[in-house]
Amino acid sequence: MASPTAFETVIGLEIHAQLRTETKIFCGCSTRFGAAPNTHVCPVCLGLPGALPVLNRRVVDLAIRAGLALGCTIQTRSIFARKNYFYPDLPKGYQISQYEHPIATDGVLSYEAADGPHSVRILRVHLEEDAGKSLHVGSGASDRNSYLDFNRSGVPLVEIVTHPDLRSPAAAADFFARLRAILLAIDVNDGNMEEGSLRCDANVSIRPVGQAELGVKVEVKNLNSFRFVQRAVEHEIVRQTERCRGGKRIVQESRQWDDASGRTVAMRSKEEAHDYRYFPEPDLPPVEVSEEWVAEVRERLPELPDARKGRLIRDHGLSPDDAAQIADSPSLTRFFEATAGVASNARAAGNWVTGEVTRRLKQDGASIDAVGVTPEALGRLLAMVDAGRLSASAAKDVFEVMYGTGREAEHIVRTEGLSQIGDEAELREHVTAAIGQHPDAVARFRAGNEGTLGFFVGQVMRATRGRANPILVNELLRSELASRDTE
Ligand code: ADP
Ligand code: MG
Ligand code: ZN
Repeated sequence: MASPTAFETVIGLEIHAQLRTETKIFCGCSTRFGAAPNTHVCPVCLGLPGALPVLNRRVVDLAIRAGLALGCTIQTRSIFARKNYFYPDLPKGYQISQYEHPIATDGVLSYEAADGPHSVRILRVHLEEDAGKSLHVGSGASDRNSYLDFNRSGVPLVEIVTHPDLRSPAAAADFFARLRAILLAIDVNDGNMEEGSLRCDANVSIRPVGQAELGVKVEVKNLNSFRFVQRAVEHEIVRQTERCRGGKRIVQESRQWDDASGRTVAMRSKEEAHDYRYFPEPDLPPVEVSEEWVAEVRERLPELPDARKGRLIRDHGLSPDDAAQIADSPSLTRFFEATAGVASNARAAGNWVTGEVTRRLKQDGASIDAVGVTPEALGRLLAMVDAGRLSASAAKDVFEVMYGTGREAEHIVRTEGLSQIGDEAELREHVTAAIGQHPDAVARFRAGNEGTLGFFVGQVMRATRGRANPILVNELLRSELASRDTE
């Protein structure tokens, strides 16, 4: 029997990112999330006849920034078009979007992934307005009615479109994460996927290994987490492979990810690719971007995550993993740098920020911006550890109290008697007690079993509730046990 055809997966992503502006793209309405429905609206974003759109200049600035960070060429002249379709949350009957002439083109994002270097080409970055929102569940009589909220209508977006350069579900999810980190670093997007400010459409096809021609693609819409991207692509590969092996055709269509069932579900067929009847938006002039403007934005471009990661490793001695995790988040970076500025040991600070601090925040589902412990206070705690005044395990207990109460480490250590015991006489008492209580272990040590030392350290730590200076305990144990050797 011939072995079944092996298939290769091909993926291209279209990512919608909300631009960080106070006001919408073509009117002065607020973009703030979470307002009461239909309170951030006006004739322009409601699409009332005769209302004229006026382009928000900051939107262009942010799109240039995104384009530059993705290595694109910024076009001196880009054009808005009307993309015509009917949808209840699209009151004008068309969406204003750049089409044939996007603001940025031909970029590339190169990065180091777990399995080696990756390069994903960026086809285009274009500006568009978001639509409103249809609410089918959870409001009013939603068992009988659907509701419309136009607060999102006219919120500025960039759509970032990649070439079909990705080859696996993990690579697609990883690219999305790299892109998010960059958009955060340049302050173009807030990265908040639950609130819908960053979402991804994954185009997926398969083809027999060795075939140059691309297979028919399926577009999975609106994936708003890395995990969804990964799972949706995984499922599409299985579904498409089964169809191909069964001799069935892949239909070009849009599908939706259903996380509960772990499947993609057909939304609409996309056989007719050009059914939007695009034409240039007559109410908006072309967007003109001078070379000076581009140069000025380039000048202001902040450090990107990869460069920052390198700097954290070089200048602060962080491990590559800690550095990557911190560098991907501007708020973690700020927190780390402020902590390290006070703590004497930057590597330990990096460890704490990615370890204990992150773990504690996750437990509460809280963000670093809202953490009750200031980086300076954490720095002072770590300085106490470094000075040998506090053991590593006691420091975790102290941090827990700081986190819960906002109290200073120094104060907690003094009032709770948590400071590390570095007093030799006091420790020697614990050491001799432990040795006296375990003659069998002493015998094992004498017989050459070095591991017994760890047992004794553990005994002393227990007796002192983790407060003993471990280095000193080790020294004392060795000298005490050695002196018994000669008895
Ligand atoms: P459309 O006109 O249907 O929107 P585009 O050519 O603009 O298609 O591509 C949209 C996205 O789909 C891009 O990210 C592109 O990389 C990706 N794409 C195009 N063809 C394929 C394919 N055969 N398999 C996977 N992805 C594809
Ligand atoms: Mg498309
Ligand atoms: Zn408005």
